Amino acid sequence: MIQVKGIAASPGISIAKAYKIGREEFFIPKQEIRQEEIPLQIQLFEEALIQTRKEILELQKRIATDMGQEEAQIFDAHVLVLEDRMIIEDVISRIKKERLTVAYIFSEVLKKYITIFSKIEDEYLKERISDINDVGKRILRNLLGKERSGLEDLKDKVIVVAHDLSPSDTAAMHKQNVCGFVTDIGGKTSHTAIMAKALEIPAVVGAGEALGKIQAGDMLIIDGTVGLVMVNPDEETLEAYRREEQKLKGITEQFLLNKDLPAVTSDQKVLEISANIEFPDEIPSVKLHGGHGIGLYRTEFFYMNRKDLPTEEEHYQNYKFVAEEMSPYSVIIRTIDLGGDKFLSQFQVPREMQPFLGWRAIRFCLARPEIFKVQLRAILRASVHGKLKLMYPMISGIEELQQANQILKDVKQELRNEGKPFDENIEVGVMIEVPSAALTADFLAKEADFFSIGTNDLIQYSLAVDRANEKVAYLYEPAHPAVLRLIRTIIEAAHGAGIRVGMCGEMASEPALLLILLGLGLDELSMPPLAIPRSKYIIRSISFAQAQGIALEALTLSTGKQVEDFSQSKLRELLG
Ligand code: PEP
Ligand code: MG
Repeated sequence: MIQVKGIAASPGISIAKAYKIGREEFFIPKQEIRQEEIPLQIQLFEEALIQTRKEILELQKRIATDMGQEEAQIFDAHVLVLEDRMIIEDVISRIKKERLTVAYIFSEVLKKYITIFSKIEDEYLKERISDINDVGKRILRNLLGKERSGLEDLKDKVIVVAHDLSPSDTAAMHKQNVCGFVTDIGGKTSHTAIMAKALEIPAVVGAGEALGKIQAGDMLIIDGTVGLVMVNPDEETLEAYRREEQKLKGITEQFLLNKDLPAVTSDQKVLEISANIEFPDEIPSVKLHGGHGIGLYRTEFFYMNRKDLPTEEEHYQNYKFVAEEMSPYSVIIRTIDLGGDKFLSQFQVPREMQPFLGWRAIRFCLARPEIFKVQLRAILRASVHGKLKLMYPMISGIEELQQANQILKDVKQELRNEGKPFDENIEVGVMIEVPSAALTADFLAKEADFFSIGTNDLIQYSLAVDRANEKVAYLYEPAHPAVLRLIRTIIEAAHGAGIRVGMCGEMASEPALLLILLGLGLDELSMPPLAIPRSKYIIRSISFAQAQGIALEALTLSTGKQVEDFSQSKLRELLG
């Protein structure tokens, strides 16, 4: 049995066979061929083209049945790329001239066309890059005899093993027969990890060479709570983990007994506990786990895995549904947070050197108000169907907040002119996730209705640690004194201005740190649904005065490790 150690990204145990998704960047060595091998290489190329065409037409047929004719038309462009004489002739003539393998020549030709198209100013032609890329990868996969990465045909439960999964890959696996993820790279709060948690799928990320060590079909156990993968375990280990799985179920059921009780301390301090969601179909899970509202709806996933932008009507129907389903509780809709590790294919956003520091979230929205306004209009229109609030991500200072609010004001006026009703008193909050916002929170608090602390980003920006990079994951410390001090500053600023402050970063669901957060005076916590019952249980086990004492003592400690050990020991004392 081989063991692979990684980062615990989403808790729980899964036992199933491995399903590998190869790296999309193929390494193709430059290999010469003999003169007499040329016809064979050309034949391989033709076979790969036929096979690819067959796959695309099958996919097109399935999409037409499942989603509609219009969506299926996307693949017409793929077939056109496949039949492009210029590309085909280029490949064949270069095989004859250079006497190299078809896989190598084709990958070179593919690169050349992508470079040419990316330099063209014409928007339409630029958009063809993703079609050429998609079809090109398919042809390469067929040339190299690799299995397809599509998960559409899965019959049995599998654990997906990949070098990396983008949030849009993970979104596409949503509802498929996937019961676990293992990736070579990634950090604890990368959006892929967050998504796995939301889908309640155990995951281990940053597992180094998992893809190289695990073969397709290997039996795997993944322990997402400690970040361990066992490859082809013996019967004894399998049995032990099956028992552990049962035990975990028992503990979860114990916590679930608290789920409908309020999150109130023994001295009557009440906290609001709500849920983070990425998709509206997570709402049953929010209700099942006792979430009192949605504290963070990450709407950018609504833009993913589609070729066009959602219309105002689609947005509106989506938000109306969420508002009605969660009523009378409130739903905080976060406006789109594109960028960082979440790229959307509809926007031809150039690759950036430091995407997390680049054109992201509110920066993108302020630069593209025509896109931003569609979402704002829909949120406002849906606000009459329940209790909606809206919140801007990545605000770095007061000017950005004022600019966003100006656009919101314009949109409200448009709706009034059109006679479309909306909640005139809709609350508008700010995510505090950039250190400059934390340090100027007193200014921001004067112009915001509430704050929500986004620790996933606040930690990466204040400690200068890429949240998605496993190599520096050891430095990603929620308990770092710098983080605690920033949180204290934000809470004081909010309360000084008389507004409420919550936390929607993953830190809010760390059991030991919860004691400190409670003591620091947060009013609300929003977390993955699964974590809600446990958090309620902990809050109900302590007094606010006790938690305040713990927070004060934690603030005197000088390292993250000391804070972590101290809060763990307090939690153990509390829960026995
Ligand atoms: C955060 O940064 O803490 C947050 C909740 O937003 P996201 O994880 O989507 O960046
Ligand atoms: Mg964030």
